[in-house]
Amino acid sequence: SDDDGAGEEYLFKIVIIGDSAVGKSNLLSRYARNEFNPHSKATIGVEFQTQSMGIDGKEVKAQIWDTAGQERFRAVTSAYYRGAVGALVVYDISRRTTFDSVSRWLDELKTHCDTTVARMLVGNKSDLETIRDVSVEDGKTLAEEEDLFFMETSALDSTNVKEAFELVIREIYNNVS
Ligand code: GDP
Ligand code: MG
Repeated sequence: SDDDGAGEEYLFKIVIIGDSAVGKSNLLSRYARNEFNPHSKATIGVEFQTQSMGIDGKEVKAQIWDTAGQERFRAVTSAYYRGAVGALVVYDISRRTTFDSVSRWLDELKTHCDTTVARMLVGNKSDLETIRDVSVEDGKTLAEEEDLFFMETSALDSTNVKEAFELVIREIYNNVS
């Protein structure tokens, strides 16, 4: 076999979960296409987007799945989670209820994914500092309790979006290589 790993390819499935309207679709469109939509409706038909990055001279592809709005009806299917090796669990720092839902999303993830999943807690909409409803400390504490990575992001102004996805991708890579 190839000792140096040259030419090896990796494809990782990552899911984005969290309550409706926390900014999941915009985090993905910001990361994959550098786009933000202030009036975004659920994108019907687009199941995932693929984004590549280089790690150790290897091409690592992340196939990142978006829910297309099923979370509104608590109907995210097991097919959505199948084969996922990474997850971003997103809440909105300006809406406490979305933070309170995180544990339910983590339970759902545990139910559907039995393998090691690289998990990141994401407090999105960090640009809404003036109406913040969840402190950075609360996010950090929950992340420590649940053994998750943690970042606050803004899909609107791009803060930490690339960083959040790439940290998860690197962690998955470390888990498998
Ligand atoms: P989803 O239901 O979780 O996929 O959320 P969307 O991506 O559809 O976003 C819901 C609403 O929040 C939309 O009006 C977005 O424009 C807005 N939004 C998303 N991300 C941000 C952000 O980082 N900052 C602000 N201020 N608004 C955001
Ligand atoms: Mg959406």
